[in-house]
Amino acid sequence: MKKTKIVATIGPASDSKEVLRELIQSGLNVCRINFSHGTHESNGKVITMARELSKELSVPIAIMADLQGPRIRTVVSEEVEIKNGEYIWVSDVSVDANFQFSISSFQTISNDQISNKKILLDWPEIVNDINIGESILIEDGLKRLKVVEKDGKSLVAEVINGGVIKNHKGVNVPDSKLKIGAVTKKDEEDLAYAMSREVDFVALSFVSNGKEIEETRQKMRKILGREDNLPQIVAKIERKEAIKNIEEIISATDVIMVARGDLGIEMDETKVVIYQKEIIAKCIKAVRPVIVATQMLESMIQNPIPTRAEVSDVSNAVIDHTDAVMLSGESANGKFPQKAVATMSQIISDTEDSRFDDLQCATPSDDKDQDYVAIIESAYNLAKNSKAKAIVAITVSGLTARLISHFRPMQKNYVATISEKVYMQLSLVWGVESYLLENVDKESLIENMVNKLKSEKKIEAGDKVVVVLGRIPGGEKMRLVGIREIT
Ligand code: ATP
Ligand code: MG
Ligand code: MG
Repeated sequence: MKKTKIVATIGPASDSKEVLRELIQSGLNVCRINFSHGTHESNGKVITMARELSKELSVPIAIMADLQGPRIRTVVSEEVEIKNGEYIWVSDVSVDANFQFSISSFQTISNDQISNKKILLDWPEIVNDINIGESILIEDGLKRLKVVEKDGKSLVAEVINGGVIKNHKGVNVPDSKLKIGAVTKKDEEDLAYAMSREVDFVALSFVSNGKEIEETRQKMRKILGREDNLPQIVAKIERKEAIKNIEEIISATDVIMVARGDLGIEMDETKVVIYQKEIIAKCIKAVRPVIVATQMLESMIQNPIPTRAEVSDVSNAVIDHTDAVMLSGESANGKFPQKAVATMSQIISDTEDSRFDDLQCATPSDDKDQDYVAIIESAYNLAKNSKAKAIVAITVSGLTARLISHFRPMQKNYVATISEKVYMQLSLVWGVESYLLENVDKESLIENMVNKLKSEKKIEAGDKVVVVLGRIPGGEKMRLVGIREIT
């Protein structure tokens, strides 16, 4: 079984039970539902389906609700093909269908050079903040426009990088100063809905600092009316400010996503891989699961096999020791969703089987309970030196499992919990295979777990396993590490 986990975005190409089942059987661990798209009804169906399949197949399949954040998107009634060097009209949804685009005094071009192609942006009044000379980037920056004329709500843009502009694609205006707040009304409604469905993760787009994460956590507490057992927060790193405040964000959040699409627009795209490596290293040190996202197998949206460069990208993320790699359009609206997941799984296994998978392990950063870190480190060493087959642990909050994973042990890491949320959340964590033990009293948790692993033939008589008891549920604060021979 692979140790690096797979997050896949579920969309029109994968939102049937048959396809979703195939994705899970091909190695999917976490379903990402992008609330930028679809409705509560359609996204809700995916949640129901994933929950049913998780039970049916007896594997933890977590649900991640990804909130759109302050994101601008295109509005076109039908696809528009734009060509390099062409001039096109741009405005926003504050204009109506009868709006007459016009420029009263031209700066650099003339009226007859402008084509009749039009693109609107979905934030009312947004073009007020976009000026001549500034860039408009569409679909992770693949299509590029430059504003050359402006008169009121009418912008004329030169096409620098053409292509087919589709409806509802992401737009970036990196040169413009926008007056958009961090949390939108849509996000508030989507968060409330996601909470009502008890999702396992909530991803926040365009995070700038740690305070935004703490505020979201407070909102979750308020909506759910409880202090813990909350969804974990995934901070998407895609802005300049987030890079600047990375330490504070890592410390405030539960999980990090390196959202390379927008990050490559806000920063130089040539440096994205360096940020990726730096962020992964910081996350491992701080014991925060980390996901590498965007364009990993992009060409598989159209083709049944990836490019060599894409294979190399996934493989290198595994060598960086990321917890998870992610698929976006490849699984959401591509032609080969199952092949994309299967290919990703195969690249992961092949890389993990190589000698490049070894990690020179750093000690976790200081904000952890250092006694406990020492205990887990000794479990890791014990497993290594005793040639144990597996590490078997009991966890209440998931911390024990994440700490073991931090050391990236060679052995299998089987973890039992009585919390359904923790069971699901651990599906994102490198190397962890989680088990939900319901209706089991605390004294017999480890017995139950060992029996379960034996019945699944994951361990057998004669094997040695390292046992880690984090905090025994409801029990006193006693932590134990031991070696056990299976009989
Ligand atoms: P983000 O910046 O949050 O990644 P995105 O538009 O790039 O937004 P992805 O989640 O990366 O969206 O998915 C890639 C594409 O797949 C989307 O642009 C959209 O066309 C399609 N897609 C994803 N989820 C859905 C959905 N639930 N319904 C319809 N189309 C979807
Ligand atoms: Mg994004
Ligand atoms: Mg995307």
